[in-house]
Amino acid sequence: MSNDESAVMAKSSKGLAVKLGIVVLLLIAVGLTIYMKENGAPANVGMAASGEPSPADPSLQADLESPAPASSPAQGIPRLVDLGATKCIPCKMMAPILEQLKKDYAGRLDVQFIDVWENPSAGDEYGVQMIPTQIFYDASGKELIRHQGFISREDILAQWAELGVDLGPSAAAPAEFSRLDPAAPDTRPRESVCYMCDGDINPKTRTVLKTDKGDVAFCSPHCYFITYSSMVENKPVLENVSITDWAAGAVLSAASAKYVYGVDAKNRPTVKAFADPAAASAEQQATGGNIVEWAALQDKELATRCGFCDRAVYPEDACVVKVEGLSTWGCCTMCALGVAARLQKDIEVTAKDALTGETINVKTFEGHVALLEPHTSVAWAGTKKDAEGKLVSTGCFKQAFFVNEANLKLWVDAHPTATGRLVSIEQALSEKMKLTPQQISKACKIGECTPK
Ligand SMILES: [Zn+2]
Ligand SMILES: [Zn+2]
Repeated sequence: MSNDESAVMAKSSKGLAVKLGIVVLLLIAVGLTIYMKENGAPANVGMAASGEPSPADPSLQADLESPAPASSPAQGIPRLVDLGATKCIPCKMMAPILEQLKKDYAGRLDVQFIDVWENPSAGDEYGVQMIPTQIFYDASGKELIRHQGFISREDILAQWAELGVDLGPSAAAPAEFSRLDPAAPDTRPRESVCYMCDGDINPKTRTVLKTDKGDVAFCSPHCYFITYSSMVENKPVLENVSITDWAAGAVLSAASAKYVYGVDAKNRPTVKAFADPAAASAEQQATGGNIVEWAALQDKELATRCGFCDRAVYPEDACVVKVEGLSTWGCCTMCALGVAARLQKDIEVTAKDALTGETINVKTFEGHVALLEPHTSVAWAGTKKDAEGKLVSTGCFKQAFFVNEANLKLWVDAHPTATGRLVSIEQALSEKMKLTPQQISKACKIGECTPK
């Protein structure tokens, strides 16, 4: 149902991203120039002529009055020099990236950071116009190219590859891995599978929406509300919703039932429907929770939404997304990254490894991954082939993060019907950043493709 979004993911349109990147770089350049002027940074930085050859002499570092926190250049291997300052924001975001590259490519790539505010002459000697600037040198010490502004790990590695410099395999570079045809067919009878989450329907919480195309079944009222929150046309009317009596097993009209709204052992909300108020009270006595009518249930269910697609979400199921000190949720890992695109802001995502529950943290900076903990974390992009053989998303319930590739593969083995591909978290984020505001506003919305 999120075909709009996935159609875009399948296409490769770099134009907008490149334009945005240029705008961002210009903004950084302007911002830094002002910052450096106001903060008495060396005047030589920002005045050097463009394209001026810069020193590639490996002994330069040793000549600096106060040595930068980088080891002296190694001989005979490619070198990446980042000229920045510890107090400039994009430079700060670069620090963990450089640190990780240094570890992952030890002996194959020399990574250096030079603080041009602490070492004012360095900016001049390297011909740096703005910070951060990264200079790529080949193994003989010849400058190959330079880049200005924040650059992600993936873009650094892509740049080396484009320059024809082979750094060899990285401990952290995800291998290509996908499974686009299920390992085993899904043999469950259709009526036992939830329309929204594709999970097994618990007969005690089965919820059904009558449509003019037939009945649509959900595993629980929650999955009905997720569907309801994503529908933009022909919103379902209450009269068409029926629900199962938790105690008696009979089918009830959703409007007439009493609901015990409680929590399970993991603090995740539970909704149990009863025709008989006495049975609802007995359940409440036994397991706690509140007794509510449909209207109050709907209010509770729709109160928390995904920060990307607006769908109803239980925080217990969601990724936490922090934006400028405020918290929102991503109903799945992909939606969580999408918040950066929707708000055009830097975000911090806290997700769980789908296999082990281990915590994964992602910080973004201007649409790129700036910090990834653990740095080996990867994403599973749930995709499938549509009737025309084009790759489309399998939806929010089929997306996941893992702390490493090994966990992802174990999870895929354990889910024979899952289809998709391994992508880096930077790739997953960049797919989201390519979406236009119009595409984002339509993300996961059920308009033309109402339940059938
Ligand atoms: Zn469901
Ligand atoms: Zn979402």
